Amino acid sequence: MAKQDYYEILGVAKSADEKEIKKAYKRLAMKFHPDRNPGDKDAENKFKEIKEAYEILTDAQKRAAYDQYGHAAFEQGGMGGGGAGFGGGGADFSDIFGDVFGDIFGGGRRQRAARGADLRYNMELTLEEAVRGVTKEIRIPTLQECDVCHGSGAKAGTKPQTCSTCHGAGQVQMRQGFFSVQQACPTCHGRGTVIKDPCNACHGHGRVERSKTLSVKIPAGVDTGDRIRLTGEGEAGEQGAPAGDLYVQVTVKKHPIFEREDNNLYCEVPINFAMAALGGEIEVPTLDGRVKLKVPAETQTSKLFRMRGKGVKSVRGGSVGDLLCRVVVETPVGLNERQKALLQELRESFGGPTGENNSPRSKTFFDGVKKFFDDLTR
Ligand SMILES: [Zn+2]
Ligand SMILES: [Zn+2]
Repeated sequence: MAKQDYYEILGVAKSADEKEIKKAYKRLAMKFHPDRNPGDKDAENKFKEIKEAYEILTDAQKRAAYDQYGHAAFEQGGMGGGGAGFGGGGADFSDIFGDVFGDIFGGGRRQRAARGADLRYNMELTLEEAVRGVTKEIRIPTLQECDVCHGSGAKAGTKPQTCSTCHGAGQVQMRQGFFSVQQACPTCHGRGTVIKDPCNACHGHGRVERSKTLSVKIPAGVDTGDRIRLTGEGEAGEQGAPAGDLYVQVTVKKHPIFEREDNNLYCEVPINFAMAALGGEIEVPTLDGRVKLKVPAETQTSKLFRMRGKGVKSVRGGSVGDLLCRVVVETPVGLNERQKALLQELRESFGGPTGENNSPRSKTFFDGVKKFFDDLTR
């Protein structure tokens, strides 16, 4: 969609002077301001257009560039890179109060105070805590108003002084290419005031770091990567603005026995080869205690046994997962003479390493190997 002409947006002639532009802008901005049209997306877009047109046309250099090149003058990269991106589109609505509405609403610069920052807290949980849910107390640092200077940042008996660089405006004009742009004042960082004698308690910041204790309820079934939002528990806002949120980021510690994958738990259970060959009953761990598992005769190593419903129920609901036990056949060590003799006897009874009745897999394998070498030498 082609961009509408800035003069048309404001409904003024190309020859309009700054006063006329300002007047047109006030009239339109009052009509389309988002505060007056809550939830109306069209009005918001219209308002942004009006604001952008106003910003360009009331800046002599930008207006001259616009008259000469049209919208191309402000496109990213269009001016040889670097200085692109003058306000417009994504700007917030706060600054316009100062620029234009200041005089309507009784003067003075009115800046919308900043919402407090969101905070993140990394919480490590054991698998048991994550699966069952837990309530944890956490201590988090937070900024609070300094009670020595009551937030001004100036030493008792002194006051912040008007900044001499920007004369209190908080903004300075900087040249960038052949445009001049507004930037936050480098001396006072946009505050408009400087503190000659900073408060000792807060070093001039007006806010001090304190820690607060919060009780956080972790719901059952959370997993690594889940986060819990605590609305309004983030950093305090400036001058009574809303606080940010606190995000508790969950990491589940490695468990000595279980590994979780989605809602299933995995564990490895070693068995000796007599058990594997003859079968029997073993005890396997679950998060709720031990349960018996029947190992059938002739169980091969790495066989996976599924215990339904012994896994995890996700915090997002759904059914409970399973516990999957992998049995691993362990070669016996530390054999005594008698055991060695028994095994020797057993070995002889197999009739060699490829005894086909007792080791079907070895038989298939060694037959395959034989065929491989026969084919090579043919
Ligand atoms: Zn202070
Ligand atoms: Zn300044």
